[in-house]
This record gives sequence, C-alpha cells and structure tokens, in this order.
Amino acid sequence: SKAKLFDEKSEVKTTFKDVAGLEGAKEEVQEIVEFLKNPEKYTVLGGKIPKGALLVGPPGTGKTLLAKAVAGEAKVPFFSLSGSDFVEMFVGVGASRVRDLFKQAKDKSPAIIFIDEIDAVGRARGKNNFSGGNDERENTLNQLLTEMDGFGTDTHVIVLAATNRADVLDKALMRAGRFDRQIYVDLPDIKERKEIFEVHLKPLKKVDGLDVDFLAKQTPGFSGADIANVCNEAALIAARNNKKAVDKQDFLDAVDRIVGGLEKKNKIVT
Ligand code: ATP
Repeated sequence: SKAKLFDEKSEVKTTFKDVAGLEGAKEEVQEIVEFLKNPEKYTVLGGKIPKGALLVGPPGTGKTLLAKAVAGEAKVPFFSLSGSDFVEMFVGVGASRVRDLFKQAKDKSPAIIFIDEIDAVGRARGKNNFSGGNDERENTLNQLLTEMDGFGTDTHVIVLAATNRADVLDKALMRAGRFDRQIYVDLPDIKERKEIFEVHLKPLKKVDGLDVDFLAKQTPGFSGADIANVCNEAALIAARNNKKAVDKQDFLDAVDRIVGGLEKKNKIVT
C-alpha cells in the first residue's frame, strides 16, 4: 500500500493559542511541555519522565490539535500516525513501522509521537479473533508495548495517543510506564464554543459587530471541528451570494447545513 505510514514534522507552528477552551486539558499537558523542554531538570532526583498519555474524547474536539500544540510549545519534532492506517497492512509491516517510528523519534529526541485512533490497534486482544487480520493488529500492538517498555530514562520521547473509545482498549496499554495518564477532551460548553468561534472567525472577512455569543448559543453539541466547519461554510455561502462580508444569516445557513449533515451521519450509525 502507498498509504503514508507516518508523518514527521520537525517544526510545528501550532501552539496553545490555537487551542480554544480545554483549559483543564491544556493545564495537564503543560507538564509534558515542561518535561520535554528541560528533561534533565526533572530526572536529576531519580524520577522518571512519563512515557505516554491518552487523550480521550469525542471526535473533532481538538485531540490532534492539542498534541500538535504540545510539540509546538516544547519546540520538539512531532511524529504522527493513525491507528487505522495499520488495519490494511500486510503481515509484518505494522510492527516494523512501529519500530521505525520509534527509532526515528529516539534519534531526534526530545520528541512527541502521536497515535490517532489508537483503538484501531489497541483494542483488547483475544476477543472476536476469527478474522485473519487480527494477528497483524496484535503484532502491531505488541510491538508498540515493547517499544514503550524499551525506553530508558534517558529517552525523552513522549507518546500521546487519542481515542474516543477508552473502554475498548487493551488494559495492557494503560499499565504503569505506558499510557498511564488519561486526559479528557470534552465537547465545548457555550463559553468554550465562543472561544473556538473567535479562533476560526479571525481569518474571515465578516460584518462589524457580529454577535459571537449568539453563534455560541446556536450551536449546542457542536465540536470544535464542527465550528471550524461552520465558519468555513459561512464564508463560502457569503461568497456564493457575492457578499463583501460574511453576515449573521450566512452563519445561520451554515449551522443548518452542518446540523443536517450531523443528523444524516447519526441516522447511518443507529
Ligand atoms: P478526531 O477524534 O476526529 O481525530 P480530534 O479530537 O483529533 O478529532 P482535531 O483533529 O484536533 O480533533 O480537530 C479538528 C479541527 O477542528 C482542528 O484542526 C481545528 O480546526 C478544529 N478544532 C477542534 N477543537 C478545537 C479547539 N478546541 N480550538 C480550536 N479549534 C478546534
């Protein structure tokens, strides 16, 4: 397969400024930023820097964004891959990719490794093991555990992984010295939605005095990704109507369109 197996960004521009709301989660990852910036300071008394943390929360709430911001704030390289990329892989490839990934990150340490959709590889082992593909998944998971256990105290690589299904994960992943910290990234409340709107409104040409509180009020249940979507849709709708600036009605139309899309998605699920 020609799928990109992992991404490496040596210079990450994303910082905490780009992540609206999520104050609690940002506070928790701030500690990881400190470790990465100054590992010696923390290990001098014999303490061990954590190896991994799990970002848990619904889709589109900013888990990837937050992981990237950790790398950006600490000014360390960001290696990322998605658990679902492993699903289609040939036997043996998944494990060797994990090995490559960790080797490269160690070479460039301090560094962040981010594994999105870790549930795709990290589901509990030994259940529903009827389809042949599961062996490959297990090999990949085992390799991931092996790599994390293999870090010495002098390896300053922190692995962040994201999931919206922490309940299905293999308990071995959560054991001490692996992903032993869980950080919750929830859907935004009204105040956080306003902050997310403010981030995504910034690049738009909009009418003066646009009521952002109103937009936040109109979007209960929306994720950060949904709000980013609304802002983009609104700008396209306004442009289609040859407007010079995006106005309140464009946002309402965009909200309707996104709500319609979400309803359709939910219908397929249930
Ligand atoms: P998934 O579980 O679907 O991978 P995720 O939680 O990793 O989702 P992201 O990929 O980080 O979500 O979010 C998608 C996009 O939504 C971001 O690139 C950003 O534009 C916007 N977004 C999400 N959350 C926030 C936030 N808290 N502040 C600002 N923008 C956000």
